[in-house]
Amino acid sequence: MSDLLYLDHNATTPIDPLVCDAMLPWLRNEFGNPSSIYGLGRRAAAALTKAREQVATLVGAQPSEIIFNSCGTEATNTAILSALAIDPDKRHVITSTVEHSATIKLCEYLATRGYEITWLPVDAQGKLDVTKLEAAITSETAVVSLLWANNETGILFPVEEIAAITKRKKVPLHLDAVQAAGKVPINLETLGAQYVSLSAHKLYAPKGIGALYLNRKARYTPLLRGSQEETRRGGTQNVASIVAFGKAAELATAALLTAPEHIAALRDRFEQTLLSTIQGVRRNGAAEPRLPNTSNLTFSGIEAESALLLFDQEGLCCSAGSACSSGSINPSHVLTAMGVTRDEACASLRFSFGRTTTEEEIDRALEIIPRVVAKLRSAQPVGGSPVQFAA
Ligand SMILES: *Cc1c(COP(=O)(O)O)cnc(C)c1O
Repeated sequence: MSDLLYLDHNATTPIDPLVCDAMLPWLRNEFGNPSSIYGLGRRAAAALTKAREQVATLVGAQPSEIIFNSCGTEATNTAILSALAIDPDKRHVITSTVEHSATIKLCEYLATRGYEITWLPVDAQGKLDVTKLEAAITSETAVVSLLWANNETGILFPVEEIAAITKRKKVPLHLDAVQAAGKVPINLETLGAQYVSLSAHKLYAPKGIGALYLNRKARYTPLLRGSQEETRRGGTQNVASIVAFGKAAELATAALLTAPEHIAALRDRFEQTLLSTIQGVRRNGAAEPRLPNTSNLTFSGIEAESALLLFDQEGLCCSAGSACSSGSINPSHVLTAMGVTRDEACASLRFSFGRTTTEEEIDRALEIIPRVVAKLRSAQPVGGSPVQFAA
């Protein structure tokens, strides 16, 4: 096994060494409960205050609008259920066909509880038609919940236009900004969304820590009741991970200011080289507007899962939409929503780059990928059954 070549930053990110350093004291001597009034507890509370400011700064919010919780999924569930609690008679939810499973699974559950769900379509480029959003809103609509940035394609939804519509129609808006935070500038002070989901492990902090932005004028019902987070999210705070989230947010704020073009340049070289040197390669999703770090490509005639296994032997990590080979598992819902055929979706790979991705790593990937694609194509006649490779 050669050195790791990690091109799957949309799945999760490595913990930045500075983030790890910042969190370690809070796993060692500084073990206080932030609700305790002696010094040990007060120091933990002060650490939470600082982290709250750091996360708020990253997204242009006020610290009091940041509620720490366990993950992006919890933030999304809390936001949608909170909006539904405002007026129990309103039983219509608007979302899209390309959401993260956190939103999809909740909405599917709500549908079984009698809620009407509108699944807004996207076009072949992965773009949302906001006139369809406007047309879908009725007097029954309780909440609109949409992605800011798509985790599979990187496509950015037009959040300013979306927020302008929901404001005009007076419908609460939740945005899943888990992939957008730290990758594109976010200013929630001016946007006008009521709820925004954030997660630390997509921005170089540990897994299992997230936050919900709750606009100070928005109505809210907690998911977990307890005294912490000003009764908005019960449960003793995960101090070490919150400190890590804060540090990661500080680093992301700085990286957005100092090196915004770096990752996009790597991504473009990667994509252009593959598109121009391998036959039968297509990009999924519009060139713009999208995240600077994500490239979703179809390599016609290959089985993406087989590619992942061969890549793994060379240390290259990337991702396929979802498992396709076993008949029961569906190909990526995001790609199929864009009109990509089942076969093409099963031949698609997502590469997502990070702050530490180097030109040398791109060179290595550009050597491995064409070789593996050629090998798969020669072993697997188009239309034939996929060849199994031992991992
Ligand atoms: C990862 C992700 C989530 C879920 O965040 P967790 O902290 O893993 O629960 C939600 N939405 C998007 C777009 C994501 O990429």
